[in-house]
Amino acid sequence: MQEIRWHLLLFVIFEIIATLLILSIFDIRTSLVFLIFTLMLFLGFHIYWIYRLNQWLDNPMTANLPNGYGLWEKLFTKLYKTQTKQKKSKRELYGVLDQFKSAAEAMLDGVISVDQNNEIVWCNKTAQSMLNIVPKSDYGRPITYIFRNSIFKNYIENSDYEDTLKITNHLSMQPLEIKVAYFRSNQKLIICRDITKDTENQNMRKEFVSNFSHELKTPLTVIIGFIETLGGMYSKDTSENKIITMMDRQAYRMKGLIDDLLLLSNVESNQHLNRSNKIVMSDLFKLIKKDIALLDENNHTLDYSINTKLNLYGEKREVESAFKNIITNAIRYTGKGGQINIRWNLINELGIFEVTDSGIGIPKKDIDRISERFYRVNPDRSRETGGTGLGLAIVKNVMIQHQGELKISSELGSGSTFKLIFPTERLIQSK
Ligand code: ADP
Repeated sequence: MQEIRWHLLLFVIFEIIATLLILSIFDIRTSLVFLIFTLMLFLGFHIYWIYRLNQWLDNPMTANLPNGYGLWEKLFTKLYKTQTKQKKSKRELYGVLDQFKSAAEAMLDGVISVDQNNEIVWCNKTAQSMLNIVPKSDYGRPITYIFRNSIFKNYIENSDYEDTLKITNHLSMQPLEIKVAYFRSNQKLIICRDITKDTENQNMRKEFVSNFSHELKTPLTVIIGFIETLGGMYSKDTSENKIITMMDRQAYRMKGLIDDLLLLSNVESNQHLNRSNKIVMSDLFKLIKKDIALLDENNHTLDYSINTKLNLYGEKREVESAFKNIITNAIRYTGKGGQINIRWNLINELGIFEVTDSGIGIPKKDIDRISERFYRVNPDRSRETGGTGLGLAIVKNVMIQHQGELKISSELGSGSTFKLIFPTERLIQSK
């Protein structure tokens, strides 16, 4: 810009001096002719180079760039330099992109990038074979349309990706773990991992625990039988009777542990069990009330509020065991005379079983961990009250198998609330 200004200024000064000089030597006509002639020359020169620039812009190849003259030479040199710089950064960018693509191709995990409408933008070869994607025809189509699975669809369309999703590709029967991460503002990267090996190992472990527990059950039942017979042979206050009572308690603890281990492994392994039988909740709660009353022996105030018109599709034994586990925990971790509220209701289209107690509560740091196997806040209290440390792990798995979830909130020293939330699809509402 500065250069153009200087160029114009010099031209104007030259014109003034030259015109004045001609005027002083010749007459006014000659000087005017000179002025018009030089102005036209000046304009013609610039129009010519603007024409050349316009011509080059139609096909902006570096090799075709004109050399220019004077001011235009400098302008074309600048253009040349900018073009060369741009070409270099473009080459570098392509290089990085190529490197990224080759790295993504070499990954053993499937990587798919999708836009805000979940339409496929790009994916690597592993993803193509895992989710049956054909790049030519499937790019630009929604991923949920290509890989049809309702659980996957719900997961992708729901924008909460805190947890990973484990599903099976029904065509290849390959178990997959899916993770989603956002990039830019609304694009997503879907990462699929083949977990065949992990699943096989897990199944082997589960099978071992299940077989082992099963094998222990028979000898333990025999031992309990003998202990009971022995107990009847000694009168109450004898030391033999005390020892036998202790043996009896320990044997029952062991039985409880084995029963819970078997139940947990059954819930986990029966993934393909048809859990869509109609459970009549009024019948289920009648049963639960009776059993819980026997167990509690009037030590607590139990308040039931049950919506008997709200029934459930599920596996009755599993649901019963989950509900009982939550209520017995409330009894075990609430002092005598405490209040326990049990509710079954429809809230926001979801079926919610809720148990609130006025018990000891749970420290904040433990809330997320108490549904892990054998995780206890206070192992001694758990054992004293006949706990196995597996109750909430069973509940959590029952909920997973029913596409529901377990939510816990608690205030240390004031009590806890456990919610079992069932999705709308599992509910039956009678009039
Ligand atoms: P346990 O047999 O030890 O009760 P659970 O899996 O049922 O095993 O529960 C795990 C732990 O969670 C318990 O040991 C206890 O520390 C805590 N917990 C469960 N329910 C309650 C409750 N209602 N109030 C306080 N703590 C609880």
